[in-house]
Amino acid sequence: MSKTFSIGGIHPNDRKFSRDHPIEEFPIPKRVFLSMNQHLGMPAVPVVQKGDMVKVGQLIAEPAGFVSAPIHASVSGTVSDVALYPDFLGKKVLTVVIDTSGDDWLESIDRSSEIKHEITDTPQEIFKKISEAGIVGLGGAAFPTHVKLTPLEGMKAEYLILNGAECEPYLTSDYRLMIEHGQEILIGGELMRRVLGDVRGIIGIEENKPRAIELMRKHAAHFLQWEVVPLKKRYPQGGEKQLIDAVLGRKVPSFSLPVSTGAVVQNVGTAYAVYEAVQKNKPLISNVLTVTSSDPSIQRNYHFRTGTPVREFLNAAGAPEQDGTLRFAKVVNGGPMMGKAVANLDGAVMKSTSGLLLLTEKETKRQEPGECIRCSKCFQACPMRLQPYLLYQLALAGRTEALEEHRVFDCIECGCCLYSCPAHLPLLDQIRLARNVSLKNKRKK
Ligand code: SF4
Ligand code: SF4
Repeated sequence: MSKTFSIGGIHPNDRKFSRDHPIEEFPIPKRVFLSMNQHLGMPAVPVVQKGDMVKVGQLIAEPAGFVSAPIHASVSGTVSDVALYPDFLGKKVLTVVIDTSGDDWLESIDRSSEIKHEITDTPQEIFKKISEAGIVGLGGAAFPTHVKLTPLEGMKAEYLILNGAECEPYLTSDYRLMIEHGQEILIGGELMRRVLGDVRGIIGIEENKPRAIELMRKHAAHFLQWEVVPLKKRYPQGGEKQLIDAVLGRKVPSFSLPVSTGAVVQNVGTAYAVYEAVQKNKPLISNVLTVTSSDPSIQRNYHFRTGTPVREFLNAAGAPEQDGTLRFAKVVNGGPMMGKAVANLDGAVMKSTSGLLLLTEKETKRQEPGECIRCSKCFQACPMRLQPYLLYQLALAGRTEALEEHRVFDCIECGCCLYSCPAHLPLLDQIRLARNVSLKNKRKK
């Protein structure tokens, strides 16, 4: 029987229009913009200068500490600038710009499509390769993977859960990866399992992806310690805390790391990147994203080089009108529930970008907010058992201490409250704002 998490959640229409479109190779851009902030933690530090020639896969930035990640050239060519450039959110970040020429790869990278099944590296060697390849969580959070695989004092991992839920509507990149590269995902998972020690491997997949469940089960049959667990379709099942609850029935306490429950969660895309890093010596310079909309001609999955400007995807999709204006009102980086609106179309996609969602004026139009009718739907939908309406009121009143007492930091910004509210109150907008202010104050202190 399919499992699911025990608190809250919603059932949005999944709109996975691009699910049957195989992954296509996106053309190499003329210029890439590689931000030094592509991961959580300290930004990377450039080791190249303007005028340097680089090959694909070459190190261009070193990690600035343990919670950081290196960055590698995603194209070959000349470094044309190392300076502050606005990212897709419009925020200026230190960026290495490379003007592409040819497609000249480091010779150490194995570019053959042959799957390398045999694992010859020790757990220590696997860990080193993962950290040197700049692998970060590709489920959206971009947390450096080697940090998550590092044991913490007093905590022992018992399970490695591969997250194949992909519960955000519209997105299909993880699904396509499981369909087209399931074996590599399993090998990547097995590599991480060996780093963690003698743990059990579980792949959680929502039951709206029966083909992926079937295929991954077939591949998992070759690995003694792995099993596939089907999950009921429910958002936000891909959230780490919700996935651990769904698969193991264990709850992550407030202010605790998921590993405190004995589980480490990694995305299926991350497992694929780990396979490429360890078995093929390929650093994280590319990923798969979904470019989608309600227009059937713009529903694709692309394998892209990191640092490709967002605008290139829109041009390829035929999104702009002939006069160059955009016929979509909004481009969202990620899915509709947790993604962020793209403020700068010349900003680039990053290691962890999983989707670009193009929305029309009509689709982005919000209903006028009314009065709260005290229906408690927001409370029932909240997967963190928070009281969204109360948090909203406290946020409007600027009552920081009361917000913290009512666990504002437990909010995972899933948007379930906003989605459920019949009065269309901007619950998440206010909660997020207040949460960010509280976080800033906490950091200052
Ligand atoms: S956005 Fe925050 S408050 Fe709203 S449902 Fe999600 S976790 Fe709860
Ligand atoms: S869902 Fe909206 S209307 Fe219902 S209690 Fe929550 S805030 Fe009020």
